Amino acid sequence: MDIWDKDGRSRMMAKIKSTNTKPEIKLRKFLFAEGFRYRINLEKLPGKPDIVLSKYKTVIFVHGCFWHKHEGCRRSHVPKSNEQYWISKISGNVKRDKINMKELEDIGWNVFIAWECEINNKNKFENIKNKILNFLRKNIKSINA
Ligand SMILES: [Zn+2]
Repeated sequence: MDIWDKDGRSRMMAKIKSTNTKPEIKLRKFLFAEGFRYRINLEKLPGKPDIVLSKYKTVIFVHGCFWHKHEGCRRSHVPKSNEQYWISKISGNVKRDKINMKELEDIGWNVFIAWECEINNKNKFENIKNKILNFLRKNIKSINA
């Protein structure tokens, strides 16, 4: 089942492809309010992470469920028209994500993936916020250890 009508889907895709998406901004606002300082879309790092917290050696990607294939998420559903095109395009993205993640970890970065659907969902976002805070605390500890 395709949850998007044609217009809805093209609107969504146009939005997801751009930087500074709403979920990204929402997450950044939260981090800022919690006192974290970060840089965004650092070109020189593999995959150009959305949020970079250098002090914590941590990068956060805000992944669109469709473009990055959020497993088990209904928003990752590939449209029936042009199915082959989408499947190869998205598996290319997923492959690239894995390579970027590996490269980042190889040079000592901790990587956190936040999914758009989770940021957009009130309850899940609470959960994500806690996970990120724990992740950052753990990472700063290992830096100072
Ligand atoms: Zn999702």
